[in-house]
Amino acid sequence: MADVETYIKDLKKTITTRDPNQSEFQEAVFTVLDSLKPVLKKHPEYVEANILGLLVEPERVIQFRVPWQDDAGKFHVNRGFRVQFNSAIGPYKGGLRLHPSVNLSIVKFLGFEQILKNSLTGLPIGGGKGGSDFDPKGKSDSEIMRFCQSFMTELQKFIGPDLDVPAGDIGVGGREIGYLFGQYKRLNGFQGGILTGKGLQYGGSLARTEATGFGLIYYLNALLKDQGDTLKGKTVKISGAGNVAIYALQKAQENGAKVVTVSDSNGYVYDSEGIDLAVVKQIKEVERGRIKEYAQKVKSAKYYEGSVWDLDIDYDIALPCATQNEINKKQAKLIVKDGVKYLAEGANMPSTSKAIAVYKENKVIYGPAKAANAGGVAVSALEMSQNSERLSWSFDDVDSQLKDIMEDIYQKSAAADKEYDLGKDYQAGANIAGFEKVAKAMLAQGL
Ligand code: GLU
Repeated sequence: MADVETYIKDLKKTITTRDPNQSEFQEAVFTVLDSLKPVLKKHPEYVEANILGLLVEPERVIQFRVPWQDDAGKFHVNRGFRVQFNSAIGPYKGGLRLHPSVNLSIVKFLGFEQILKNSLTGLPIGGGKGGSDFDPKGKSDSEIMRFCQSFMTELQKFIGPDLDVPAGDIGVGGREIGYLFGQYKRLNGFQGGILTGKGLQYGGSLARTEATGFGLIYYLNALLKDQGDTLKGKTVKISGAGNVAIYALQKAQENGAKVVTVSDSNGYVYDSEGIDLAVVKQIKEVERGRIKEYAQKVKSAKYYEGSVWDLDIDYDIALPCATQNEINKKQAKLIVKDGVKYLAEGANMPSTSKAIAVYKENKVIYGPAKAANAGGVAVSALEMSQNSERLSWSFDDVDSQLKDIMEDIYQKSAAADKEYDLGKDYQAGANIAGFEKVAKAMLAQGL
C-alpha cells in the first residue's frame, strides 16, 4: 500500500493532468488533501479503498446551453452547469451562481467545498453546485425571468427533491428562485422540495434569508467564547453588501459590535460611526442600487473605489462576505498589521491560500468558509424537512436550530483540531470533521 505522502502526491498529479486549467478547483482540493494527511495516517482503510480518489471526482457533471432573448429582441447564449459531486450522505445540495466568472473550475471548487460543508451541518445532504456565466447586472426583470426559464428548462431533467436540490448563491436570490420554481412547476407540476430559498408563500422557510449571515455570527460567537472573548465592543470590517453581508452586519450589531465597512464590486464605504443597517437594506434590497449611494445618504460615511481590504484602519475582526479570492497575500499582511485577531469567512474561499498562510503564521484565528458560512445550506436542509412534512416552522424555531448547528460545527472543528494536535487550525479541523462522515458513508456503501 502506498504511504500517505506518495498517495496524496499521485492524486494531485492525476488532478492536474486531468484538468490542467482548473486552478480554483485545484487550490480548493489541494488544501483539503494536505489537511487530511493525519487522518489518512490514522485510517489506512481510506487509502486502501482510494476514498480520496473517489471524493475528488464528481459523480456527474452536467453542462448545457442556455439561450435567451433580451428586451431589444437580441438572442444570447450562455453556458449552464450543474456538478453533482457527492451523494454519499444525502441528495446533492448546493446553490446556483450567476456571474460572468462562472466556469467549470469554479463550479467544481464550490461543489467540492459543499460536500464537506454540508457534512459539517450534521444534516443528510450531499454536495453539488451549479450556475451560469450569465451576468445579471443591469438586466431587466423580464430578461432575468427569460434567462431563468431557459436555464430551468434544461436543468429540470436532472434534479428532484430526493436527487438534487439547488438553491441560491451569488446572483441568485428570491426573485430568481421564484422564476426557476415557476418554470419547474410548469413542466412537472408543483413539487415543493425541488429548490430551497423559496418565497414564504410557496414553501420557503422563515430565517432562510438571514441564515448565512446570522450563522456566520453564531459560529464566530462560539469561536470567540472558546478564546475567552466576545463580539461586544469590537470593531469589524465586512466586505460585500449582499445577503450574507447584510445579515452578518445585523447580527454583529445586535451582539454589540461596531461594523465600519460594507462594499460591492466597485468600491466600499467606510463609516467610522458604524454602518447604518436600515440604509444598506434600503439601497440593496429595495432599490437594488450600488453601495456608493450609502455615502450620499449618510454624512459620516465616505465612499472609495477599490477593495475594502486595502483600507488601512485599526480593527479587531474581519468578515469577508463578498466573493472568492477577494483577499490576497498583501492584503492579508495589512489585516495582520491592522491588529485583526479573528477572521471568519461568509463568502466561499474569499482568501487565497497565500493569504491563509499569512493568517496562520501570525496567529490570526481563522474560521474557514465551509464551517463559518454553512448556515445558509443548513437552513436549506431545514426547508427540505419542512417541505417533506408539509409544515412551516416559526422563525424562532428555525433560528434556534441554526444557532445549535453553527455551535456544533465549531465544536466539531475544534475537537478535530484537538484530536490531531493541529494548534488551533480550525480550517484543517473543519476539513477533517467534514471528511470523516462522508468517508465512513462511502466506505460503508462500497465502490
Ligand atoms: N450557496 C450557499 C452555499 O454556498 C447555500 C446553498 C444552499 O442553500 O443549498 O452554501
